[in-house]
Amino acid sequence: MILKPPLPGIKLLQTGALLRRTPNIHPNWANIESDFGRLEAGYKGELSLLYELKMLPQNGHITLFNIRMTNNGFHFFQVDVLLFTETYALIIEVKNISGTVYFDDMHDQMIRYKKDGTEECFPDPINQVLIQEYHFRDWLKQKKLQQLPVESLVVFTNPQTIIKFSDKYNPALKLKVIRKRILPLKIDEFSKKYQDAILSAKELKKVSSQLQKYHTEHFPDILDIYKIKASEILTGVQCPNCLGLPMKRSQGYWLCQRCGCFDAKAHETAFNDFGLLISSLISNGQARNFLQLQSPSITKRLLKKMNYKSEGRGNSLKYAIRIRG
Ligand SMILES: [Zn+2]
Repeated sequence: MILKPPLPGIKLLQTGALLRRTPNIHPNWANIESDFGRLEAGYKGELSLLYELKMLPQNGHITLFNIRMTNNGFHFFQVDVLLFTETYALIIEVKNISGTVYFDDMHDQMIRYKKDGTEECFPDPINQVLIQEYHFRDWLKQKKLQQLPVESLVVFTNPQTIIKFSDKYNPALKLKVIRKRILPLKIDEFSKKYQDAILSAKELKKVSSQLQKYHTEHFPDILDIYKIKASEILTGVQCPNCLGLPMKRSQGYWLCQRCGCFDAKAHETAFNDFGLLISSLISNGQARNFLQLQSPSITKRLLKKMNYKSEGRGNSLKYAIRIRG
């Protein structure tokens, strides 16, 4: 059972919004574009894993994507996929990377060589899952939950990726790296290895609910990361067809002056962008400015239709933007 499906993470949504709302002459634009590409590939890799995970017996296998938790309130650990049964838990790090990857045992790094000759360095994902195993065991202990045996895998989702290891790489650890196609076989192997039930049906439910309860979504200060001022963000309602800015409000619709597209709901993406980039709370004045509207009453009506929760009264009334993926 997929209890928590893969969803685009906040940083993926933020970098996507930034690319649409920052002039491409900004000195950090290329960095945003490359981070967006990496995050998007990661998300697509996770989505592609659903095919293999749906082959598993739906009863007894509980799967959660993108779990982020803390053991001390400061340091968070994040797991791409956490699968568990009554007998064991499995942590999966998903890698959707093209080209050739080389695992270097000496320097905790995985180097990616692209066809165009460029190189890129990643932290060794095997060490990453070993650290996640450690934190997850600690988390189970802290929450006074039954200690399950914890396994981990690094799954490459692109069948074209060439995987290489340095000569002295620990052979037992190399076995943690597999291709996506093999995942159901590997899970079957673990099911045979761990046959003693450690969790009762009730405890299995408890672990699932605790994992969902303590999951904390990361919401980075994206403008600070890329050194962009809020005043540099392009305002206006964006055309869903050609991404032109700004659309004009006309008779209850938004009209794109570039491509002629009409849309009734294009402002919803603008509110979402404001929430992702500027602030989770928005006042009527800020919304008017961001949507490039003159009328406070039209702005109020559009905000009301979003069904956001509101805070404060009168001039200090603000709406809490609910981010959608
Ligand atoms: Zn347009």
